[in-house]
Amino acid sequence: MADCIFCMIAEGKIPSSKVFESDTVYAFLDLNPVHKGHTLIIPKKHAKDLLRLPPELGRDIVEAMQNVGRAVMEATGADGFNVIQNNGRAAGQEVEHVHWHIIPRFDGDGLAFWAQTKYESMDAMNAMAAQIRARLV
Ligand code: AMP
Ligand code: ZN
Repeated sequence: MADCIFCMIAEGKIPSSKVFESDTVYAFLDLNPVHKGHTLIIPKKHAKDLLRLPPELGRDIVEAMQNVGRAVMEATGADGFNVIQNNGRAAGQEVEHVHWHIIPRFDGDGLAFWAQTKYESMDAMNAMAAQIRARLV
């Protein structure tokens, strides 16, 4: 898509530190890493977010996440890694071309991503699950 920065990266029109490339997937280092080695995985074909991603690309994305995740851990000496994928501004999505963050993590690095809340009761929790189930297609 014209004027999409990640499309331009996948097409080689603007530079990136490439980590991986296949027919359908491209991976490169994030310019503003949480930790060095923080990598972004994108489908080459533009999709705004996860809801617009053709599901048949899922296999290629998961294979890339496994391959890149293992290589990032080995290259950085990380003890683990997070896969994070933001959908929508409210979720922190800044670039509107779907992407998965591979973030190396180290024992005791102290990063915390999630604030926690609680359901008022088990009934309230079960009601939430029922509301979600009712909307599945
Ligand atoms: P998100 O907030 O999930 O949309 O993440 C977008 C990510 O893209 C941020 O972590 C940015 O640092 C990263 N980013 C934006 N532009 C570039 C670029 N040209 N090269 C590498 N990473 C980028
Ligand atoms: Zn794009």
